[in-house]
Amino acid sequence: MAEHDSSQITSLDVKLSAYAPVDRLRWASETFGSRAAIGTSFQPAGIVIMHLAKSAGLPLKAFTLNTGLLFPETLALKTQLEEALQISIEEVHPAQTVAEQAATHGAELWKRNPEKCCELRKVDSLGKKLFEMDLWITGMRRDQSTERSATPLLSLAARPDNSDVWKLNPLVDWSRDQVWAYLKEHKLPHNVLHDRGYRSIGCWPCTQPSSGNDERGGRWPGFEKRECGIHTPNKKS
Ligand code: SF4
Repeated sequence: MAEHDSSQITSLDVKLSAYAPVDRLRWASETFGSRAAIGTSFQPAGIVIMHLAKSAGLPLKAFTLNTGLLFPETLALKTQLEEALQISIEEVHPAQTVAEQAATHGAELWKRNPEKCCELRKVDSLGKKLFEMDLWITGMRRDQSTERSATPLLSLAARPDNSDVWKLNPLVDWSRDQVWAYLKEHKLPHNVLHDRGYRSIGCWPCTQPSSGNDERGGRWPGFEKRECGIHTPNKKS
């Protein structure tokens, strides 16, 4: 698919909105082939997406941004999922190790400048990865937070050179309860940190247990920051 104006995106969005999530993924696979990939941080929605793709025999690749600051429980879940789903999830690493970043920018940058830390450890590495794909599949859902309440199903995001990359959120209209019911029904593993009160799980220095309606309320405690920056505003939707 080469072309993209807002009317085309809207009409595709309307068409795909009537599809079940697995058929949204089938469309992605058939349309973009090996240039489509699932990005996951092992939140429950990402696990559902990988299971739907695998169960439908869709050859969609998966990758994760390993910041070097993930909880051991998250890395254990990655291994568990690879075994359970018989898939390989590529790890995308930042340009610098945590130690190299400390030498360049000072220790524990996340405590002083989490925007810069996320830029270096997540946004830049995703940016490089986006050049390998034309469709990025994510687990964003509208009911995760106020900031995500208007998330489109299909949109255009930008690579670092501002070229277009399609972005599909196949579970955008699913609730938290639907996602967890799916995990339970299919006996899929989840991050054990969820059982200890963590709701949205990122890097260990910036994630705390939380409660209430805001699923992402435990991220970056003490800062106004609400997103890591990889889900920046879409170019078009
Ligand atoms: S979530 Fe925290 S530790 Fe991870 S990249 Fe962002 S600021 Fe750094």
